[in-house]
This record gives sequence, C-alpha cells and structure tokens, in this order.
Amino acid sequence: MDTRLLLIILDGVPWRNWRSLFGNLEGWVDSGEARVWRMRSVLPSISASCYASIHTGVTPAVHGSTGNANVFRLSVPDIFSEVRKSGGKTGAVTHSFWSEFFNRAPFDPVRDIEYDEPDSASINHGRFHTMAGYGHANQMTPSDADLFATLTMLSQRFGLDYGILHTCTLDSMGHRFKHACEEMDHACAHMDETLAPYISRWRSAGYEVIVTADHGQNDRGHHGGRGEEQQDFALYYFGDAAGPDADTLLRQTQLAPTILNRLGVPIPQTMTDEPFL
Ligand SMILES: [Zn+2]
Repeated sequence: MDTRLLLIILDGVPWRNWRSLFGNLEGWVDSGEARVWRMRSVLPSISASCYASIHTGVTPAVHGSTGNANVFRLSVPDIFSEVRKSGGKTGAVTHSFWSEFFNRAPFDPVRDIEYDEPDSASINHGRFHTMAGYGHANQMTPSDADLFATLTMLSQRFGLDYGILHTCTLDSMGHRFKHACEEMDHACAHMDETLAPYISRWRSAGYEVIVTADHGQNDRGHHGGRGEEQQDFALYYFGDAAGPDADTLLRQTQLAPTILNRLGVPIPQTMTDEPFL
C-alpha cells in the first residue's frame, strides 16, 4: 500500500448541514488541514443503492441494488476486493448491509455480527450492527462514540490499510425530526465534536481520512429522488494529494477509484469514472 486510508460515512447529511453545523471540520478547512468539495449521489439517492455505488464506483443501474429492500452479494469488484488482491488489510464498522453487499448474504447475526478473517477476499475485520427493529420513534443506532472507538481499535490491533466506518445516527434523526430544528442542530454539533478527536488521532497514526455522506435529505427528511437537497453532501479530505478546484461538483462514482488510487491499488475495468485526487 502506498497510503493507508479511513473512509467515514455519516449517513443522510445534506450539504447545508455539513457546511453550517460541523464546526471542527470547517475549522480544518479554514486552517488548510482539510479540503472540502460538494459531491452528488447516484440515483436513486437511497442508502443501500448509494453504499453499493460508493464502494463499487458503478451506478445502481449497473450493480442492481434498487433500494433498501434489495440487498444481496454484489457481483462487481469493490474497494475491499481490490485492496485484498493487492495484499492490504481491510476493516469495516458499519451497518450489516455493507457485509451483505461485499462479503456474504444473507446476514447471519450470530456468524456475522463480528468477524476476523485474515484470509478473506473482502472484509478481514468486521464489526456490524443491523438496526433491527428500526422505526420512526426508535432509532436503534449504536453510540457513535463506540463506533469511532471500534474502528480505532481495529486499525491499531490489526494494522488496517483501509477501513470504513458508517453510522446512521444523523439520517435517522433527519427522518424523525426533519431539518432546521434544535434537535438536528445539536445532533450535528455533537457528531462533529465526537468525531474530531479521532480525526487527529487517525492522522497522527498515518492515515489519510475522508469524511462524507451517502446522500442528503430534503426539509421533510426524505431522500431517494433527484435534487440538490436529496443528492448533495460534503466530502472532506485530510491528506497529501492535490484535488480539483473548490467549486468542482464531484460524482459519487468517482469515490471508489479515487480511494484505490490513493492506496496505490490498481483500478478495475468496471470503475470507469475518474479519480479526483
Ligand atoms: Zn443513507
């Protein structure tokens, strides 16, 4: 591996919330530690479809996941499979959909809630949560403090070359409380404060870090369709690479080949969009 990298996905955070409520991330943009761009999700702007596109670099029309009820083991190459081919160690602290898409499906909670498989062709070290029982009044999301600590533990214990963390807290908050409200202001600020010390820690440990979302949300707390509110979010990059002009609109299908490029891993033929770093 040329570089080691951690990808942090905060589910369902629209562009305006990133830029107005994440004070630590924005402070690092001001100081030059981080760069930020606007990225637009694939369509449909639904979580499962976006997870699959984030990691494969292809659209839902190609990978075939049309929504949250259509989750299966994907057949196209993804970041995990390509990092493994190059001998890198991978880790994931995410919703169980990520294990199903990129390792094995259906998700068996006893077998798959946590695994360490050094010879795996996809995820070597996985820690997952299902959010089983999720509903409007009961988020069923783990504490983000626990998730950040778990990724840090995996990276230290196993020397991950590539790790991903994904949390649905803010997406669930948006569905429940909508936006432009006290609850969402506080939830975003709390996430920013919880995440910030870990970014410093991961950078000190030699990782490049990308913090972004899978899609946005409109003012009614909805996403899935077209439009800036539903599709657009920020992407913060902490690392040494040069990037495009600040006003460039990035495509979500650029993320997978960009990450492989940073790691020094060959980009598979299926990832046809161009790296932006
Ligand atoms: Zn989502």
